[in-house]
Amino acid sequence: MPDLKMELKCSQSDNRGIYYAETKRAMIYLAMHESLDDLYKTIDHETYHHCFNENGETDGMDEHMEERVIYCLQWARFDLI
Ligand SMILES: [Zn+2]
Repeated sequence: MPDLKMELKCSQSDNRGIYYAETKRAMIYLAMHESLDDLYKTIDHETYHHCFNENGETDGMDEHMEERVIYCLQWARFDLI
């Protein structure tokens, strides 16, 4: 994903991370994470948003569906879904 811009912020936020499709930019709020694994999970989460957007997958999904797919993708490797 060469055109994804990811910014790591030290400031607090209501979100752990957020992806802006219009500008292809993800903001990751470091203070909202408790561990490095937690941080990696958010980075993966926002990257999935970007991948779905770039491949037109969001056209047929509402926000809730997209969040559910990402949740399933992140837990699939643990066979917990
Ligand atoms: Zn999300």
